Amino acid sequence: MKAMTRKPEAIARMIREAQTIAVCSHVNPDGDTLGSAAAMRLALLKLGKTVSLFCDGKVPDQLAFLPGIGEMKVPDGEEGPFDLMLAVDVSDEKRLGCCANLLSKCRHTAQIDHHPTNPLFMEENSVDGGEPANCILIREQLAALDIEPDRDIAVCLYTGISTDTGNFAFASTNAACFEIMSELMGKGLPLAELNRILFRERARAQVLLMGRALSSLRYYEDGRIAVMKLTRQDFDECGALSEHADTLVNFGLDTVGTRMALLAREAEGGEVKFSLRAKEPDCVSDVAQEFGGGGHPQASGITMDGELDETVSRVLDALIRKLNG
Ligand code: 5GP
Ligand code: MN
Repeated sequence: MKAMTRKPEAIARMIREAQTIAVCSHVNPDGDTLGSAAAMRLALLKLGKTVSLFCDGKVPDQLAFLPGIGEMKVPDGEEGPFDLMLAVDVSDEKRLGCCANLLSKCRHTAQIDHHPTNPLFMEENSVDGGEPANCILIREQLAALDIEPDRDIAVCLYTGISTDTGNFAFASTNAACFEIMSELMGKGLPLAELNRILFRERARAQVLLMGRALSSLRYYEDGRIAVMKLTRQDFDECGALSEHADTLVNFGLDTVGTRMALLAREAEGGEVKFSLRAKEPDCVSDVAQEFGGGGHPQASGITMDGELDETVSRVLDALIRKLNG
C-alpha cells in the first residue's frame, strides 16, 4: 500500500504554534532532501521562526549553491530543545541517522515525504508516495503557510524536482512538475546555470576516469553485453575516488543494441566491486545474487575478493548464460 496522507494544513498549524524548529534531511543527502530543507528554512524565516538545519552527512560540493545550505550541521548532542522537528524526504527513522537523537529533544514531530514505503513514524505525517519529488509537497506546504516562492526558494524547489526526476526524464515525472516549473520560471529561476551545475559539470578526476573506463570498454555477444574495467592504477593516476566511477557503467548500457552492462573496479580494500545494469525487460539481480551481491532487477552490484580479470570473466560468463538462457 502506498503511503498517502497529504496534510499540509495540519503541518501548517504545528509550524504556526512553534518558535524553534529543527529541519532534518536524510543521510547521504541528495538534491531533493537538501532542496526541501533549504526551501523550508527560507519560508520559516519569513514567518519569523528560529530555524536550525540538521543532517547526518556532508552537503555534496555540487549542492553548495543552495541558498542557506551552509547552515546545515551534523547534530553534536549540544543542541536543542526545539518546539518542532520537521523531517523532509526521510523515508523512515533509520534514514535520519544520528538526527534521530534529536527526536527526544523536540516537543512535537512532523514530516513531509514522498516515499511509498514511509511507515508514518512522526506525530504528524504529510506523505504522498505517488509524487516524484518531495519538493512538490514542499511547494504545497508553502501554499498552506501563505508563502509565495521567491527566486531563492525557486532555486531550492527546482533542485529537488529536477534531480529526483532525472531532469524530467523518469517515468515518474508528472504534470505537477511542469505546473510548478511554470511558476518557478516566473520567479527568475536561473535554469541554464543550475542545469550546468546539476547535470553537466563533473569533477576533473571524474572526466579523466571516464576516459579510462571508455578505453577499457569491450563488447561481447554482438554488442549485447558491454564490459568496462578500472584498476587501482587508473584511480591513482586520475586522482579519482571510487564515487567518481558511480555512473560510468551507463556509457556501456546506453549503447544502441546493448542489453546488459558491467563495470568492475578495484576497490581501495583490495576487493573487486561490480556495477551491473540491464535494460528492461532484461534483469541482472539474479546474476548478482549468484556471486553474493544483490540490488534491483535492472541495477545491481557485487563486491567480491579476487583478481580483476579473473572475477570479470566469471561474471561475464554468467551474464552470457543469462542472455542466451
Ligand atoms: P551500484 O552499481 O550503483 O553501486 O549499485 C546498484 C545497486 O546494487 C545498489 O542500489 C544496491 O542495491 C546494489 N548493490 C551494489 N553493490 C552491492 C553489493 O556489494 N552487495 C549487494 N547485496 N548489493 C549491492
Ligand atoms: Mn526525494
